[in-house]
Amino acid sequence: MALCEFELIQRYFTSFQQGSAVVTGIGDDCAELSLSPGHTLCTSIDTMVEGVHFPKKVDVSGLGWRVLAAAVSDLGACGAKPLGFCLALTLPEANEAWLADFARGLADASNAFGIPLVGGDTTKGPLCLSVQVFGETPAGKALLRSAANSGDDIWVTGTLGDARAALDCLEKNNVSVHEQHFLTQYYRAEPPLKFAAELIGIARAAIDISDGLAADLGHILHASKLGAEVDLSRLPVSGALAQSYPREQVHHYALTGGDDYQLCFTADSNARSALRKLAAQFDIRLTPIGGITGGRELVLQCDGKAVDLDVYKNKGYQHFQ
Ligand code: ADP
Ligand code: MG
Repeated sequence: MALCEFELIQRYFTSFQQGSAVVTGIGDDCAELSLSPGHTLCTSIDTMVEGVHFPKKVDVSGLGWRVLAAAVSDLGACGAKPLGFCLALTLPEANEAWLADFARGLADASNAFGIPLVGGDTTKGPLCLSVQVFGETPAGKALLRSAANSGDDIWVTGTLGDARAALDCLEKNNVSVHEQHFLTQYYRAEPPLKFAAELIGIARAAIDISDGLAADLGHILHASKLGAEVDLSRLPVSGALAQSYPREQVHHYALTGGDDYQLCFTADSNARSALRKLAAQFDIRLTPIGGITGGRELVLQCDGKAVDLDVYKNKGYQHFQ
């Protein structure tokens, strides 16, 4: 017999690990979360729609991980510590095999990022997943897009472009070792949350790279009313990416590919040694890719030669375009 809504929630979504901030979790009308003294609440919501954000043929447990990774990535971008998340799930049917796989991936991510599931909503309809995350930052200290200064270094974490390369092999049946690497990066993205929380007081502006570096750094520049110079030859890319595509396409993917959920931030040049120490402490690959300028443009160069940004036509994913 088909599961009813309440059995479904009970069976798949009530056994997640809870956190110290959770006063009331799943089961009442609202979840209650406590904030540390002197902290403010940070919240963000992300939605993934079948056929738009992921194909019909998808790794379901990977989808469970990814929907939470994408949402907590926004907490990291503000330097927020995670408190809890809600899941709004719209399903065409209560398919138990699907639910078990999805809940497993989601629970793995919940444990990995230290963020408990505290509530949600379950409805019937075309497959759609929405995750709202809650976190906290010391009052007035959240990392914002608008805080860059002229002369700041620009840093990125991890590697860029792998998730874009995954789109080229998402629906393949047999994948190479490199393609498997891209798929792992796509389905098991690991936004550097703990590292990001330590950037408060060290970094200035920050954003997570969800729509592609050019687009997301562009948001920092727009909000801070500044420009930047970026050296394409310094963009951090995986060996798998560098070995799988021609160099120009590697730059294209690293610059405009979305879904990597890494961090881009700016910091004063005298923060370099503190940043390198922090990156080593959290085992984060950290790469300086350029600097903030007084202009209003993103200026690209590669091996000392100017590169026109328009070469990379699609500057990041946008809906309704
Ligand atoms: P209400 O009618 O008051 O909105 P619901 O009956 O929708 O409450 O949900 C009952 C409880 O189950 C609530 O605590 C809600 O947050 C939780 N819940 C519903 N769907 C989900 C889900 N997909 N994941 C986690 N918790 C859920
Ligand atoms: Mg209610």
